Order: sequence, then structure tokens, then C-alpha cells
Amino acid sequence: MQSYIEKGGLKRHILIVDDELINREILGNLLSEDYEVHYAENGIQALQVLRESECIFSLILLDLLMPVMDGFQLIEKLKADEKLRTIPVIVMTSEADAEVKSIKLGAADFITKPYDMPEVILARCERTIELQEDKTIILAAEKDHLTGLYTKDFFAEYIRQIEKYTPGKKMDIMVVNIDHFHLINELYGRREGDKALKCIADTLSRIYADIEGIRCRTEADYFYVYSESRSDYDNILKTLLDELAKCLTSAHIRLRMGVYSDADKALTVENWLDRAKTACDRIRGDHSRHIAYYNKDFYERSKYQEKLIHDIDDAIANRDLIVFYQPKYGIQGDVPVLRSAEALIRWKHPELGMISPGDFIPLFESNGLIQKLDRYVWKEAARQIGEWKKNYSLSVPVSVNVSRMDIYYPRLRDNFHELLDENGLETSELMLEITESAYADNAEQLVNVIEALRNDGFVIEMDDFGSGYSSLNMLTTIPIDALKMDMKFIRNMQKDEKSMKLVELVMDIAKFLQVPVIAEGVETEEQLHILKNMGCDIIQGYYFSKPVPAEDFKTFIEKELSRQN
Ligand code: C2E
Ligand code: CA
Ligand code: CA
Repeated sequence: MQSYIEKGGLKRHILIVDDELINREILGNLLSEDYEVHYAENGIQALQVLRESECIFSLILLDLLMPVMDGFQLIEKLKADEKLRTIPVIVMTSEADAEVKSIKLGAADFITKPYDMPEVILARCERTIELQEDKTIILAAEKDHLTGLYTKDFFAEYIRQIEKYTPGKKMDIMVVNIDHFHLINELYGRREGDKALKCIADTLSRIYADIEGIRCRTEADYFYVYSESRSDYDNILKTLLDELAKCLTSAHIRLRMGVYSDADKALTVENWLDRAKTACDRIRGDHSRHIAYYNKDFYERSKYQEKLIHDIDDAIANRDLIVFYQPKYGIQGDVPVLRSAEALIRWKHPELGMISPGDFIPLFESNGLIQKLDRYVWKEAARQIGEWKKNYSLSVPVSVNVSRMDIYYPRLRDNFHELLDENGLETSELMLEITESAYADNAEQLVNVIEALRNDGFVIEMDDFGSGYSSLNMLTTIPIDALKMDMKFIRNMQKDEKSMKLVELVMDIAKFLQVPVIAEGVETEEQLHILKNMGCDIIQGYYFSKPVPAEDFKTFIEKELSRQN
């Protein structure tokens, strides 16, 4: 490939190997106008020049009969050398029968001694170099330089050809991708990155050695395999991970795999590759899944999600997004006391009906639309708190959910302050729930933003606490005002001793941090009693109420007012 770089005017390098000075001089004179000429007197010397010189040789002109190492031996050595085997060799000989032998060994051409027709010699050299360079260019486009796998275009083309010959066979497309590959390059260096890529390519080649199929690499770290249908993708993934662990010295790698099995012959090869990739990308960031299969359900799901993304602006404009409120009660007194509420979004879609946040929140979190949606909810909730405050002269603080991405919104603080001003609220009345997973970044910015909000007087609740992202060490460095215990603790609490101990542990952590605990997902009286005895302060759950529209929430406010009087 590199010889092509030189094409723009630079002279190519030629090595003349001949033991006779006179021959070297004749040829050298003939070629030196067009080429950079180097010389060697025998095979050994030639190898030395080729290996030690900085330049890239485009051609070797080789005499066959030489002392020390003759021409035949040199050709054999060249062909066995990874780096040198592609340099074309023209054999110079006076014996007709040597020609056959040298061509068989892999020589590109031959020139007969004595050198009586200079034009012919020049033309043959030029043509041999050109042929070799064209071949290199084709190979360069066909094979990926680093791993030796096919490039995507050739891969697709070969699939089409194979399909022509075996049209009915069940075939799969599988794709493997490295999670956060750029980080591996950045943290451990490109060499480690390259090592990982080569390791994956080699392992795939080994796994698929005896199976009909081909492989390619594209977009740096996507590896595609086209093969007969199979069902052992778990094993393949495991083998890849095991091999990577052996290959790499420092980096730890996570892989994602997407499989489109029994590819639909009515679709194009590009469609097949897209489907495998879509499956693979769907589990990006989902640490619980490593393999995703493309199937019809999934296709329907993608279409559904596309629709939601498309409709979000209309939903905001038409107020199809409705904020529900779920009460939180203080339970340590004789009777429960209404303390606050959580704002939870619902989507009343004109065609699809009521959509639960589980269907669109993760989607919008993955593409950034969550910021738009959250700001809508905050605005709506703030307006509602103001309205209740005015109508009942009772303050019911409402907590809103703040996504990880919201933290990085530069106007976050200004936005909250504007909402307070517009609705005549205190900072303590708009509380902020930030999910534990957002803290996992532990970015300085996150800590700074939260610190600033707390200094302003906002109450910060760590949502989904215990879902597994924070360490104790982290908890002591980040500022929070309350822990919202993850719902699964409550769900499992009565199942066994160990789960109960976990709830106690969360309570202990909160005590250590000197913050109250909010238990979410409390559904039964029994759960409430257990939690109360453990010292849990606040409870939110179906036991008191499901999230309800603002209109219905009035009942809770009125009940609270009559309790107070
Ligand atoms: P979350 O913040 O942990 O909210 C609590 C979820 O638990 C709510 O589900 C609530 O309806 C449900 N829940 C409450 N009590 C019980 C109970 O006793 N039993 C059971 N089984 N479930 C209970 P929902 O409203 O479906 O929300 C799901 C998640 O969606 C929320 O989890 C939150 O992460 C997200 N979400 C909802 N609204 C918003 C929003 O406005 N912005 C953002 N960023 N996320 C939101
Ligand atoms: Ca929440
Ligand atoms: Ca929660």
C-alpha cells in the first residue's frame, strides 16, 4: 500500500542483486533515472538491505547464480517473510530452464541476459510494479489492515455471492461491539486497543474456522459474522471474553452482541446487517444484558419507540403529558402525616392510550429528550404546588425527578429559581429526586451542581438507593438530604432473613449519614409496621395511594387539613 503513496512524483526503490559488478552497473545506469537504485552482491546481503533499510522496495531484480546465497534460496526466504513476500521479483537469467523454476517459486517475471534491449527491461520493471500495486490496492480495500478481516463492502458483496450458490440455507448475522472502545484507547493507549481488536478478530476466525461463513470489521470496533444458523452465541461471547482477558494486560473489556438469526431472504444484505446492529445497540448501557436477538417483536418495538420520539413535541403542546402525584406520609407519629408528594409523569396518547413512564422514560433518557420532558414536569409541578398553597394555605412540597442528563443542563439552577419565583414558592417546597445511578459518574460537576442546589435550600433525595451504584466511600463525599430506598428491598423484605438484614443495613447507613429514609413501594400494613419499627421516617406506596391526578390528590390535602384541626 505504501508504494502507492510514493506515486505522486517520488521515485520508487529497486534492489539489484547480482554478484558481478558489471551487471549491477549496466542495470543501475539503465534504471537510475526513474528509480532509486540499491545494490546487493548476494542473497544474504540482499536480505540485510531489505530488512534494515527504511525505504519500501517496489521491485527486486535478481541474479540466480551467486555465491553465499543464490537467487533461488533468496526467493524462498522472501516468500516466507511476512513483510517481504509482496515485493515482486524479476529474475535475470541466461538459462531458459531456470525461468520455469523461478516462476514456480513465485518470481513475477524474468529478463534474459545479456541486457541488449533497455526499453524492454524498463517496460517490464514498470509493468511488474504496477501489477503489484494494483493488487495491493484491491487487497487494501478488501481486507482490513489491522485484523486481516474483510471490510464491510467486500463482506456484503461476498455474502451476496454465497447466497447465490446456497439460496435456501438458514443463515445468521452476528455482530460484536466493544463497550466504550474509545475509553480503552484513551485510558490504556492505542496499542492496547489494537490488541483487543486483533484478539477478537483472531478468536472469531478460530471459532468459525470449520464453519461456512465470513467475517468483517467496520467502524473501528464492530465485528460482523455471516454464518450458518447456530444457537450457541452465549458460548461464543464467553470464549471471546476469556480470550480478551488473556490477551490484555490492563484493560477490562465488556462486549455486546447482536444477532439476527435466520435472515429473511426477501430483504437486502444491508438490511440484515442493520438488524443485527440495531439489536446490538439496543443493549448499549444495559449492564444486565450482553446479547440481544433481533426478532419481529423487537422490530415492532423500535417502530413504537420511533413513534413516541416523533410525537413528544405534540404531546407537550397538546398537554397529553399529565403529571400524577403520589403522597408520601410520615409514619413515626400515632397517625400518618401527609408530608409531601412525588410528581410522576403519564402520557395520555391520542392513539395509543395511556402509556406508562417505563415505556418512554428510559427511551428519552437514552436520546436526551428527557431534558425537555423533565422541564415540562417541573414547570407543571411548580404551578401545582403554588395552586394548592394558595387554595388551602397548606404547603405540600412536591419532589420531581431529575435525570442524570439534567444535571449537565447549564441553566438548571436558574430554571428552578425561575419556577419558584413564578409560583411564589420556597426552595424547600420543590424537592429533587436524583437517581443513585446518576451518582455513579461521580463527576466533579455533579457534586458541584448538587452542592450549589443544596446551598440554595433545595432538598436532594437520592432515589433508588441500594440499586447498586454507590459505594459507602462515595456516600460520604456527596451531599444528600434523604435516602429513598429502592423498591426491591421492600418487595423482598419478608422473603428471607438476609433481605430483611439488607433493609436494616440501609437504615443504618442513613443513620450514619444522618439523613431520613423514605421507603417506596410499600403496599401492605405489615410492611409499614416492620419499617416503622426499624425507624423508617417516610413511606410512599400503594398502601396509601397509587399516583393520582392533581384533581384527586385534593382528597389527601383535605384529609390532612381536617387531621390538623
Ligand atoms: P421512581 O422515581 O422510582 O418512581 C416510583 C415508581 O414506583 C412509580 O412508577 C410509582 O408509580 C411506583 N410505585 C409507587 N408505589 C408503588 C407500590 O406500592 N407498588 C408498586 N408496584 N409500584 C409503586 P411510575 O410512575 O411508573 O414511574 C416509573 C419510573 O419512571 C420512576 O421511578 C421514574 O424513574 C420514572 N419517572 C416517572 N416520572 C418521571 C419524570 O417526570 N421524570 C423522570 N426523569 N423520570 C420519571
Ligand atoms: Ca422518583
Ligand atoms: Ca425510586
